[in-house]
Amino acid sequence: MTHDPRSALLRAALEAAERGWPVFPLRPGTKRPALHREDRCPATGPCAAGHLKWEQRATTDPARIRAAWSSRPFNVGIATGPAGLVVIDLDRPKNGSDTPCGVTTFRALCERAAQPVPDTYRVRTASGGEHLYFTAPEGARLGNTAGTIGELVDSRAWGGYVVAAGSTTDTGAYEAVGDRGAAPLPEWLHTVLKPAPTRPGGPLGLPAVDGSRAALAALRAECAAVAASPDKQRNTTLNRCAFKVGRFVAWGDIPRHVVEEAFQGAGEGRGLTAAECRATIRSALDSSIRKARPREAA
Ligand SMILES: [Zn+2]
Repeated sequence: MTHDPRSALLRAALEAAERGWPVFPLRPGTKRPALHREDRCPATGPCAAGHLKWEQRATTDPARIRAAWSSRPFNVGIATGPAGLVVIDLDRPKNGSDTPCGVTTFRALCERAAQPVPDTYRVRTASGGEHLYFTAPEGARLGNTAGTIGELVDSRAWGGYVVAAGSTTDTGAYEAVGDRGAAPLPEWLHTVLKPAPTRPGGPLGLPAVDGSRAALAALRAECAAVAASPDKQRNTTLNRCAFKVGRFVAWGDIPRHVVEEAFQGAGEGRGLTAAECRATIRSALDSSIRKARPREAA
């Protein structure tokens, strides 16, 4: 029985590689890549023909992994793009913030989209959040997102990486939960994460405006629910979601035109006509503003 952290981390790196996920070393005890940055490239070794970043240097080759992890107790980074993975990163709010944690927000989003919470390979992160691993759809090349799906709900694909199970930082350990393999990315999540080709900025792009944090979080979450709605429920979902945000307009927390523009983008991005969206949003907001109770009673 050995307590050498190098052997535990080597095992973690080899396990990820066995699943077909290319790994690279992170500085011991941190989440930062251990490889040199481009501006410090010595132009030797693997970089002899030009600098290679971690995404290109990540490997599933057991010999290279053994060589790297025998020198220092590196944490393990998984390059999600080359691994063919899309990882949903559910974070926890910083101390003192009243933002709901990403796990709660994601569950609510699944519920609103009338979809089950996906059963897949999961890792509990050092900060108490969760990573949900999915295999990327054939031929899709998704990038990273931050807050597109909801507050504290990010995603990592091409251009991103995640800290693998078995790694440890100051705040705690990354641990696999259960023994599921990575499930295919559900279609509705793919729809939410796909960049919209028709609208610059994407259907969920929100204008940079003032509005209370809660109002903007609600608007973002409800627009994501519209983007994830099943075909036959697009319009009713738009109606329900716009209605939910209407009270923030009634309370003066966010300008009405901001809410209208955001839902218009989400509705059209989901395939409704501009006229349908306008009519549904107007009637939902009118009704919601009329029925809004004072904030203290809500
Ligand atoms: Zn280099």
